[in-house]
Amino acid sequence: MSHWKELFAEIVSTDVCCGCAACVLVCPHHVLDYDFSMEKPFQTDEQRPNSCSHGETGCEICALACPRLDHETGVWRWNWPQLEESLYGRTRRSDEVFGGYMQVLLARASDPKIVANAQDGGVGSAIILHGLATGALDGAVVSAFDGNQMTSPKLVTTPDEVLGTARSRYTYCATPLALRDAAAARLRKVAMVGVSCEISAAPKMAASGVRKWSNRIALTIGLMCSETFLPQPFLEQKIQGDYGVDMSKVEKINIKGKIVIDRSDGEQVNIPLDECRSLARDWGCPFCPDFSAEHADISLGGLGMEG
Ligand SMILES: Cc1cc2nc3c(=O)[nH]c(=O)nc-3n(C[C@H](O)[C@H](O)[C@H](O)COP(=O)(O)OP(=O)(O)OC[C@H]3O[C@@H](n4cnc5c(N)ncnc54)[C@H](O)[C@@H]3O)c2cc1C
Ligand code: SF4
Ligand code: SF4
Ligand code: SF4
Repeated sequence: MSHWKELFAEIVSTDVCCGCAACVLVCPHHVLDYDFSMEKPFQTDEQRPNSCSHGETGCEICALACPRLDHETGVWRWNWPQLEESLYGRTRRSDEVFGGYMQVLLARASDPKIVANAQDGGVGSAIILHGLATGALDGAVVSAFDGNQMTSPKLVTTPDEVLGTARSRYTYCATPLALRDAAAARLRKVAMVGVSCEISAAPKMAASGVRKWSNRIALTIGLMCSETFLPQPFLEQKIQGDYGVDMSKVEKINIKGKIVIDRSDGEQVNIPLDECRSLARDWGCPFCPDFSAEHADISLGGLGMEG
């Protein structure tokens, strides 16, 4: 039986941890909390950073939820075959290099207001809005935007909140944490939006029986992802410092072979991607095997496309 001790030794302290916060979400004794500046979980009892008394007496829920730990052996392992079996009833074929899928589509929201507010085609926002309008969803956990391109997990339940939190932030945002607010509001049909590593937490919880949380997730919307940037060097030093862009006047940041920054005055600033490579996280992401959010119900990406 594995618990926080193995999670800490095998995943967190080795930098395999992606920072998805699934372990923090599910911990029933509030032993774990999330360090937003380090983008990692930590044990709140400073005397025992690497262990947990509840774990020693039988609790294993954090280990069950972690998408990077094999909870049976207590070691780092990609649980992909287990997740594929639980999601699709089979493991992937050898030609399914970016995961099992039903269809690949080029799509865009038909409502121009959604497209104008969104990152690429607005499909992510359109699906959530449709879910809220039809009653298929009663909320979504997404990434909120504080005006300076910084992120925080947020539960949205209204069309204004959905459009107000659309577009991409290229820094990490542990969206699963906002499921706590969904539980507090007694919502039962919640869409979870997240980059690939966050999405894998949903089927890992379902497959290992952490159903209190997985049952609440009615839909997973994955964002294709190959890296995230560190807020301070990327936003403050590079964009604001080196390029003199006032972050409070940034409309949108997109990555299309280069960093494309749309300012609210209509001007565009381009930054070569190579200049920013060293500003990406050097933990979690270098170990990540999943670009296409393989375990999402629908995965969205816009590389090579405009609008
Ligand atoms: C960190 C990151 C890296 C990405 N890398 C690639 C890539 O390499 N190639 C590619 O093709 N696409 C990538 N994407 C996906 C792309 O930027 C768009 O999110 C995707 O095309 C969907 O566009 P949309 O117009 O449908 O989304 P929208 O309708 O604008 O909806 C986007 C949703 O994503 C949520 N969101 C925004 N930022 C984050 C975040 N940091 N973490 C979790 N949720 C968030 C928003 O709150 C909103 O709900 C990346 C996205 C992110 C966040
Ligand atoms: S073992 Fe249980 S109580 Fe301890 S950190 Fe993990 S989930 Fe929390
Ligand atoms: S990968 Fe996610 S669940 Fe696993 S230790 Fe890191 S934050 Fe917790
Ligand atoms: S590259 Fe992988 S680990 Fe890093 S943020 Fe994206 S999905 Fe998560």
